[in-house]
Amino acid sequence: MAKVLIIGAGGVGQVVAHKCAQVPEVFTEIVLASRTKAKCDAIAAQIARPIETAQVDADNVAELTALIERVQPGLVINVALPYQDLTIMDACLATGVNYLDTANYEPRDQAKFEYSWQWAYQERFRERGLMALLGSGFDPGVTNVFTAWLRKHKLDRIRELDIIDCNAGDHGQPFATNFNPEINIREVTAKGRYWDGGQWRETDPLSVSQMFDFPEGIGPRKIYLMYHEELESLVKHLPEIETARFWMTFSDNYLKHLEVLQNVGMTRIDPVLYNGQEIVPLQFLKAVLPDPGSLGPLTKGRTCIGCVARGTRDGREETHYIYNICDHEACYREVGSQAISYTTGVPAMIGALMMLTGKWQGAGVFNLEQLDPDPFMDALNRYGLPWHATTL
Ligand code: NDP
Repeated sequence: MAKVLIIGAGGVGQVVAHKCAQVPEVFTEIVLASRTKAKCDAIAAQIARPIETAQVDADNVAELTALIERVQPGLVINVALPYQDLTIMDACLATGVNYLDTANYEPRDQAKFEYSWQWAYQERFRERGLMALLGSGFDPGVTNVFTAWLRKHKLDRIRELDIIDCNAGDHGQPFATNFNPEINIREVTAKGRYWDGGQWRETDPLSVSQMFDFPEGIGPRKIYLMYHEELESLVKHLPEIETARFWMTFSDNYLKHLEVLQNVGMTRIDPVLYNGQEIVPLQFLKAVLPDPGSLGPLTKGRTCIGCVARGTRDGREETHYIYNICDHEACYREVGSQAISYTTGVPAMIGALMMLTGKWQGAGVFNLEQLDPDPFMDALNRYGLPWHATTL
């Protein structure tokens, strides 16, 4: 049906390549390009179907444009880093190709992410008759679809939304991040932010916490309030939501290491002079931490990510909880990656499938809650991320 160009050969890129390869009736040809071609080749070697590989610097629009013109894909899946979102969107506009990503744009020199930069592409994509699907990972991504599904099938109005992300897995390392360490640490050390009564409220990083009892034997865990990008699009597209918060679990060990790293300045993103050379401490830290890809064979346990929505249905107050549980070892057996990469890569493939099969169509820039959740929810059950909905 279509040729797809995947950009980025990290933990998530590996899962996207495997999952696209599992659906040959939609993804008839797969090209995997990244900064380091050897990483693309290593992924291609794991997969029985032929995968073409290429080298590209995705910070460079001219290089990207030349690659897209040569490959002629039906869609570009961007699973490089958030820094590359705008250059890849520019190249898609230049070549007339649809676009999908899993994380919103971040400028390198500011630990700040928001949709304004990518929403500013709305008119250009609309005028070109192209579609850009933003944030088709798990959170953002599936959490946006979960919210849209609860609004469509369970509640007439959502008043309060809590998105809760638990990684109950253990990789046995003293300190490691489950996805790109630089992006992860920038996110976790940022101020908390939540939507309350029509305005954003800020909290000090990880200063607000509570206990949450996770289902299916995971049990009670401490969850910490953080800012996460889907809050911004959800309160824009579902303005009825009065309170929206995002919570994540962290082990005491992770928090202890992070505190020390912060205190000694290793999480700084401004350059410092070392031996006559400028280095960014956080980028140096990334270089010495375990590669998230290497955690695959080591990680045991499960993730549980979902949404709790409170609101009304036929005038009655109701609370609904919808979640997915994903097992790290099962993911590793299937695609050679742990569950964090898996839970991001599968929805990226599903978003691509929605676009390429015409189930999701449109001209402009879209977040997932703006589209019909039903075919995406069916695909989650079918392609490895089954979900459960209950009433609390
Ligand atoms: P990795 O760091 O493992 O992989 C990133 C890949 O992008 C690497 O192959 C890297 O190349 C490549 N890359 C970086 N810069 C460039 C460039 N200038 N040109 C070409 N390629 C480049 O990250 P992950 O796979 O863990 O994450 C991928 C994306 O997924 C990130 O944007 C992350 O924020 C997002 N994400 C989204 C989640 C969600 O639920 N929505 C959850 C987790 C991640 P090289 O190997 O040479 O460094």
